[in-house]
Amino acid sequence: FRHGDRSKVIVPTPNGNVAFGQDQPVVIIAGPCSVENKEMIVETAVKVKNAGAKFLRGGAYKPRTSPYAFQGHGESALELLAAARDASGLGIITEVMDTADVEKIAEVADILQIGARNMQNFALLKKVGAQDKPVFLKRGMSATIDEWLMAAEYILAAGNPNVILCERGIRTFDRKYCRNVLDLSVIPVLRSLTHLPIAIDPSHGTGKAEYVPDMAKAAIACNADSLMIEVHPNPAKALSDGPQSLTPERFQQLMTQELAVVGQAM
Ligand code: PEP
Ligand code: MN
Repeated sequence: FRHGDRSKVIVPTPNGNVAFGQDQPVVIIAGPCSVENKEMIVETAVKVKNAGAKFLRGGAYKPRTSPYAFQGHGESALELLAAARDASGLGIITEVMDTADVEKIAEVADILQIGARNMQNFALLKKVGAQDKPVFLKRGMSATIDEWLMAAEYILAAGNPNVILCERGIRTFDRKYCRNVLDLSVIPVLRSLTHLPIAIDPSHGTGKAEYVPDMAKAAIACNADSLMIEVHPNPAKALSDGPQSLTPERFQQLMTQELAVVGQAM
């Protein structure tokens, strides 16, 4: 790569190819933290699609802090994601936590997500590097930029060139008002260091739905290539991450009224 050249990650979806990176419209990924049941995932898929999202997110395997918290519906949630893909035409992104699950998840997912807690799970990085689906690599909550880039390098070195980096907030001394500190300075910094597309997750970055729209606008103003936003039909009843989830109506308003003014191409 010459300095200034950037990768384009092209992802086939039922609605056609969607490209992340150089000269591409901002790709919006939206959906619930967890896949809870068929009705909610299909309803959310159709609503975020109509608002302009290109990918549906939804966790089947969840990395929860407590072993007693909802762990995700696993394999049965993959079937529900497939149903939502059929109903909406959206591409699917979902997290893989275990090398043993990669093939099964790749049958349904168009993009494999590596979560913050697994950013340096080197066996998992090598495994997703040795398969064909693009990988969405979240920054570890205490990872330096160089550690994050080296994690990406594991995937690239294993033969998979299609990596998207996602900033999702890091740990600092003050987490009283926000769950994490969303490090938007990574956008210009990574631009100078890597050709890979850059996504921002303002939902995990703030932990509070009311702060998500402003951080989404800021990310687009800084030329992020993609946004990942949690959307749930009934945030108060969500099985995970309800407090940071937008309602479909709030998401639609963000997409059509607020992000439009900072250049969101629909
Ligand atoms: C998620 O996307 O729901 C998630 C668990 O994110 P992170 O790995 O960034 O905490
Ligand atoms: Mn979540």
